[in-house]
Amino acid sequence: MQMESHAVSWLFLGPLALQFSALLLLGWLYRKRGYRYQRTAKANIFRCTGCNHVYIDTRMVPLSKCPKCNLLNEVIRR
Ligand SMILES: [Zn+2]
Repeated sequence: MQMESHAVSWLFLGPLALQFSALLLLGWLYRKRGYRYQRTAKANIFRCTGCNHVYIDTRMVPLSKCPKCNLLNEVIRR
């Protein structure tokens, strides 16, 4: 009886542990890729003159709308 319950818990925890480690690996890979993307991407930095919200727009446009108040702002750094 005791051996049976032990086998059941292993059957349940085995695939779970495998899934968890796979998720960790995927998350690590995504974070690595995202970090590289951020470093190589050319993004303009905007500061909203209306609400002081600082945001990034990856499109190469001189004016960008603030995501908070929809005010058009000029780029402060390329
Ligand atoms: Zn704003």
